[in-house]
Formats: sequence, C-alpha cells, structure tokens
Amino acid sequence: MPDLRTEIEYLKGVGPKKAEILRKELQINNIEDLIYYFPYKYTDRSRFYKVKDVRNDVAYVQIVGGFSDFQTKGAGRKQYLQAKFYDETGAIDIVWFQYIQWVKQNIDVQKKYVIFGKPKEFRGQFSIVHPEIEDLQNFKTSIKSLFHSEYLTTEKMKKFFLNSRSIGKLIHTAFKNNLQIPETLPASLRQDLKLPNLQDAMLNIHFPQSVKNLEAARSRFKFEELFINQLAIISQKKTQDKKNAGFVFEKVGNFFMDFYKNNLKFELTNAQKRVLKEIRADLKSGKQCNRLLQGDVGSGKTIVALMSMLIALDNGFQACIMAPTEILAQQHFESIVEMLDGLDVNVRILSGSTKIKQRRIIDEELQNGDLNILVGTHALIEDKVKFKNLGLAIIDEQHRFGVAQRAKLWKKNSQPPHIIVMTATPIPRTLSMTLYGDLNVSVIDELPMGRKPIRTFHFRENKRNMVYEFMRKEIAKGRQIYIVYPLISESEALDYQNLEEGYETLVQHFKQPEYRVSVVHGKMKADEKQKQMDSFAAGETNILVATTVIEVGVNVPNASVMIIESAERFGLSQLHQLRGRVGRGSEQSFCILMTGNKLTSDARLRMKTMVESTDGFQIAEVDLRLRGPGDIFGTQQSGMPLNFKIANIISDVKILEIARRKAFEILENDPKLEKNENAMLKKKLDEYMKFSWGVVS
Ligand code: ADP
Ligand code: MG
Repeated sequence: MPDLRTEIEYLKGVGPKKAEILRKELQINNIEDLIYYFPYKYTDRSRFYKVKDVRNDVAYVQIVGGFSDFQTKGAGRKQYLQAKFYDETGAIDIVWFQYIQWVKQNIDVQKKYVIFGKPKEFRGQFSIVHPEIEDLQNFKTSIKSLFHSEYLTTEKMKKFFLNSRSIGKLIHTAFKNNLQIPETLPASLRQDLKLPNLQDAMLNIHFPQSVKNLEAARSRFKFEELFINQLAIISQKKTQDKKNAGFVFEKVGNFFMDFYKNNLKFELTNAQKRVLKEIRADLKSGKQCNRLLQGDVGSGKTIVALMSMLIALDNGFQACIMAPTEILAQQHFESIVEMLDGLDVNVRILSGSTKIKQRRIIDEELQNGDLNILVGTHALIEDKVKFKNLGLAIIDEQHRFGVAQRAKLWKKNSQPPHIIVMTATPIPRTLSMTLYGDLNVSVIDELPMGRKPIRTFHFRENKRNMVYEFMRKEIAKGRQIYIVYPLISESEALDYQNLEEGYETLVQHFKQPEYRVSVVHGKMKADEKQKQMDSFAAGETNILVATTVIEVGVNVPNASVMIIESAERFGLSQLHQLRGRVGRGSEQSFCILMTGNKLTSDARLRMKTMVESTDGFQIAEVDLRLRGPGDIFGTQQSGMPLNFKIANIISDVKILEIARRKAFEILENDPKLEKNENAMLKKKLDEYMKFSWGVVS
C-alpha cells in the first residue's frame, strides 16, 4: 500500500522512465508531490450530447458511442487516421494525426466509449481531432465526478504519454490503493472555519463530487497555504523581535527641538506627525526598529526621515540615509544641508564618484564620530565604510533595494542600528501582509496642503503639435517641463536613439535662445548629469529631456508638466512615479501620456487608469491585477515566495486576513507549536521555512 512518501516510480503505471520525466518536469518525486499537483481548471462533464445535437459553437462535447470504419488517409508524413464515431442518432468523424499505432492496437470496435473533445464543422460534417477517449466500462467505475480536472503538462511529458488525462489517472490510482493522508490542520481550527478534512479536500480537488465540495476543497487549500505563509512570517518576526535588542533613544534633545522651532518652514501634516510618533515609540522601545514608511510621491517622507535622524543625533548616535541613485543622493544631501541651515550638524555625501581625498575625510570623521549624518548611494553598505556608532539607517525608495542589502546595514554595528525603509510604491495592504510581514508599517496617507491633483491626458502622435503649443504656453507662464523617454535595459542603445531623435526634433521646435533644454541620460558621466540637473533645478532651462534616471525622488517644485513618451512601454507604478515628479508646487500640474496608435488592451487599461486616478493605492491594485505580484516586487525583495500554488493574494484577500488572524491566535497560545495538536503544523512550517528563507539573514 503506497503512502505519501512512496517514490513516484513505484506507483502502478509509472516506472523509471516516466518517474524521471515527472521529477524533471514537475518536481514530482513522491506520491505526496503528485497529489499536491492540483488541476489548473475543471471542465463540466455532467452533460452528454447526442451526435445529432453536436454544434460548432460549444467548446466541448461529450458523447457515448462506438467506433467504426477506420481508414488511413494521406501519404508519407502527412498520413492520418480517420474513423466514424456513432450513436443511435448519427455519426461524426474522428481524426488522429498522432498516436495512430496506439489507436489501431487499442480501440475495440465491439466496445462502447465516452469521447470528449472540441467539434469542428466542415461542409456540414462534424469532426473531432484527438478526442479524449475512455472505455465506457471504466468510465462508469471511475470515481464519479461531474467535473473533469485538467492538469498542466509540458511538451516533453506528452512525448512520454503523460498528458493531463494520465496525470489524473495516476492520482486516481494512488487513491484507489487506499491512500491515507494525515491531517495537517488542528481539528479545532477546521471546525471553527468549517473546512473539510484533508482527505476529503484532496479527493474533491481532484475528483469533485459537486460544486459545493469543490469550492470547500479549494477554500481549504487556499487557507492552508496562506496560513502557513503567515505562520512563517509572524513567527519569524517574533524571534527577530526577541533577538534584536535595540538602542534606546530616550530623549528628544536640542537638534530636534531647534530644528522644529527654527528651521521647519511649514506645518507638518497630521499624517507626518502620526508617523513621527510611531517612529519615536519604536526608537525608545528597547527593540530594534524595523519600519516600512510608505507614502505616495510628494507626501513628504524626507522631512520625516530627517527628523528621525535628528533624534538619533540627540541620543549621541550617527545616522545615515541611502538612496538608489546618485542624483537622488545628491538631492537629498543638498536639501538636508539646506534644511539644517544654522544647526551644528555635520552632513556628508558618499557615492561611487566620491574622490579619494574626500573619502579619506569621510572615513576618518565616521570613525571618530565627527560626522553626524552620512547621505549616500549603495556605496554606504560596502564593508569598508565603518561608523563609530550608527544608530539609525534609512533606506529611501526601498523597492530598489533587496532584503540582502537591508541585512547588510544591520551588520554595521555589533548591535544592529534601527532601520527605516521608505517607499513611494504604494503597496496594497494585502500584499504588504505577505511581502513585508516582518516589518511594521507606517503610512503617510495625506498630501501637504494646497496641492492640486495633477491633470492627466493621453494623446497619440497626431496631437503632437497641440502638445507643443501647450508646452509653449506653460513655459510662457514661467513653468518648467519634463520629457521622459523609456529606458529598458535590454535595448539601451535603441532607447538612447529614441531620446536622441526626440531631442533633435524638440530643439527644432524649441529653439535657443528663446528656449533652453537640458538632457540627462544613463550613459552620461555623473558630474555631467549633475550639471544638467542643477541647471534645470535652478530654473535656467525650461525643459529637461531625460530617460528614467529621474524616475524616483527628484524634486523641482516649479516643474509642472510631465510628458511621458512611448508611455505604453512603462508599467503603471513607473508611470505613477514619473507623474509624481510634478504637482509639487502650488501650481496646477499636468501629465501627458504620449503613445503610438496601436495599443494592446493592457496598455489601454494602463493609460485609462492613469487618466482617471491619482491615487497610488488604486493604481497599485490595478497594476497588481495586470502583472501579478512576482513581477512587481520580485521575490528577492521579500525572501518570500509570492507565487502561491492555489491562493491568489489579490482575489483571496478575505482568506488571507483570516489566515493572518488565526496564525496570530495559534502562535499566541503555542509560540513554538509544541502542543500535540499543532505537531503536523510545525512539520509543515519547518519545511516551508527551509525553502523560503534562504536569502534572509
Ligand atoms: P516624497 O515623499 O515623495 O519623498 P518629499 O519628501 O520629497 O516627498 O516632499 C515633497 C515636497 O513637499 C518637498 O518639497 C517638501 O519640502 C514638501 N513638503 C513636505 N512636507 C510638507 C508639509 N507638511 N507641508 C508643505 N510642504 C511639505
Ligand atoms: Mg522621496
């Protein structure tokens, strides 16, 4: 009698050859792997057709009848086999281009069969190519199911006769041998949520007895999958909290207070105040702070970061802030220096292009403690950068960095510094539960007063002159304009060419000296980039033509028009980021999406979403639906697999929330899952962690 651990090779009907294919193609090693290979869809097999009722506007027909009149037709490689399939109402043609030998040897004209396939009509005669065929006798004795499960298979598998049907058969064989599947979920939990037991659920997910049973089975597996995921995240977080004692920042001192009284030029928004409070609570809690600070573009994260760093300084520690690009680091540096005007804070910037002499000064001051705040790029996390006492590290635009980099910052001290990661990529709550479940989350959900929502338009090439006209008017009013070209790394040369050509056309329409244009792209040297950015920021040029190097963080409040070229080539979150470069001053701002004439339906939805919404969260939801979570965030960021087998974190939000609540409850009562009733759960969790947490240190 096989059990879950029985190697797949020893299941009746498999053998060494097929076992190898199953291992290689689907990572199915044993019976357990096999039964956890769930169908990807179900076809309704409750209905039988008579031959006379066959139509060509149905996806599938299922008929009971017999075969006759086998004929080999065509010649050589084009040879095929044809037969009649008849019942008492008529006959249709069945055609095989492959498996001809097999059909000839196995189909018995004396027997009755059930066939299932897509009918095609040609001159009034119906035919079916390669129908599924089952002996009526077997059909009657198989596990009765109204639905037919379909399994994904690969081309290679088909060569070894491992199609969807035969996968179903193998699973059937396993069950026929009285396979026992030990329950994994505690009974109380199952009763509470009215979930079927594992044995029943497994049977019904493969061979549904009714729609209701199928739904119940799917819910159970979805729940279980999300539940284990949440158990992993929550228990990981609990050990982390315990393990990592944090520096205690008792007081708010002169740096913070002087800044607040003398330097802050505006009233903080309520959201900013609330988030600062949350951060302050973390910083004095005695535990290491690991907080995600989320806020739409322009919501004012930088000031919150700066004020948090001042708290670190007040408690005798150093702080650093890391940005994903050189331009952004430079901009943070400049605005921080400006904001701190008159305060005795030593701020420096470190990046790949920092000169050796400067670097020596930084190294020395970092180690003797003279340097208070270090701003920089990735260069910050290099091993050779050593602080005297780093108390708080801030990572801006977190989505550009991975977990591994976050972990590297931790190791800057014997005791890890507090960490705040900031992101403008709005993450739907459901996703942050799985993605950043190990972080506490703060949200700045309010824009500073007086911002007008950006107005967005979508135009095609035929409106270009109108767009130029509009640009002239805005420039005449004293506004500045961004024009962005896509940069997709695989075709950098091509993109560069786009930008060049666009630039050439542009300067013909916007001639010097009346108009001045800056250009920034990825191929430029850092200092040249900086020069071009500076002259735009200083208002010396009217237009900035750029590739997506300006995607994140750049802040030029007087720029009020964002024109995005080939907008169809950008994803939604990127479009939203780019649009966020304008709307930072008090003027009405505009975003113009230029696209080609032909758009895919996806691209049309993206443009429509942008035109209709300025809400980053709403946009992120659409993005998530269009692209799926893996694409947007990548697993490297979270260390957690986002590709669930059966659950879908977008459509199964409700289940995810229940799973999270239940995971908290169980861990509350039994933190290490040592109780008897949780033994199987513990086993599952350990397996899951082994595969999931590889990248997190
Ligand atoms: P982001 O969250 O996108 O990083 P920034 O921190 O760059 O946003 O802030 C955007 C702009 O808003 C900056 O010019 C900043 O000085 C300004 N700002 C931030 N907070 C406020 C506020 N409470 N009131 C007015 N302006 C603010
Ligand atoms: Mg920012």
